Amino acid sequence: MKQKQPTSVVTGAAGFLGSHLTDLLVARGHKVIGIDNFVTGSVDNIAHLGGNRNFKFIQQDVTEFIFLDGPVNYVWHFASPASPIDYLELPIQTLKVGSLGTHKALGLAMHKKARFLTASTSEIYGDPLVHPQPEEYWGNVNTIGPRGCYDEAKRFAEALTMAYHREHQVETRIVRIFNTYGPRMRLNDGRVVPAFVSQALKNKPVTVFGKGLQTRSFCYVSDLIEGIYRLMMSDYDLPVNIGNPTEMTMLEFAEQIIRVTGSKSRIIFKPLPQDDPKQRKPDITKAKKLLKWEPVVPLAKGLVKTIEYFRTKV
Ligand code: UDP
Repeated sequence: MKQKQPTSVVTGAAGFLGSHLTDLLVARGHKVIGIDNFVTGSVDNIAHLGGNRNFKFIQQDVTEFIFLDGPVNYVWHFASPASPIDYLELPIQTLKVGSLGTHKALGLAMHKKARFLTASTSEIYGDPLVHPQPEEYWGNVNTIGPRGCYDEAKRFAEALTMAYHREHQVETRIVRIFNTYGPRMRLNDGRVVPAFVSQALKNKPVTVFGKGLQTRSFCYVSDLIEGIYRLMMSDYDLPVNIGNPTEMTMLEFAEQIIRVTGSKSRIIFKPLPQDDPKQRKPDITKAKKLLKWEPVVPLAKGLVKTIEYFRTKV
């Protein structure tokens, strides 16, 4: 018997991750209904899907009720501002999409008897006191600090997801996404990858915050999306970290960006933003075991593709 084509709904489909996820789903035979209100997403990220009969787009704020005809098999909830300067500028929208938006997306999944996945984040660990971070760690978040709007919205989203799972038996998945990079990141979203790469390409000073001793671990977008796809298709309903465990300081990262872009930029130091996590590195034991997944794109290779993309944008 011929397998029926699955239908996926992707909220935040015009965003960095949402658009890459949409591409992967279409490539794997899904019909995708993308929803985005373009607050931080861009039509450029999905323009190539125009005219594709397996992609339909709805411009909508997902905090409003989502009406959709026809069957839906999977709901992927990716809508949210996601960079520190975006959610500093949009704290209420960030809280609303994480709470009301997750509520609407879960309601849709329940009504359609679809499987639901929410895009959570390493930010739920706050400024972590356990290193690297396993899923069992409960985190160290300043609820009322500048990052609180994002961190708490995502923590609420996880709690609501588990409540729908337990109370309504919705099939749910929670992915905790660590720092990710690649083409389609917004040049001016303030995150370290677009910031350093665009500064280096323009031979402008590269702005390291604090002393640059804080660490991050960067995952290339194709690795991340593959991990998330495997999680959705698995039968595991507790949170799973997806990220690349190769950790480095922001000073080392700045030096590497200058080197690989062949830039004449020098490094300058700017004040460290409040509550900037001092260290971050995923423990991916669970993803390796449950999903048979681990990152395969080395930083040097991922950066080449990312820099190529930014060259067309600066
Ligand atoms: N950062 C930096 N210079 C910049 C932008 C960011 O040194 O121009 C640092 C920032 O302080 C943080 C790290 O890079 O320690 C990653 O920041 P990003 O905004 O990308 O995301 P975060 O991991 O903090 O959510």
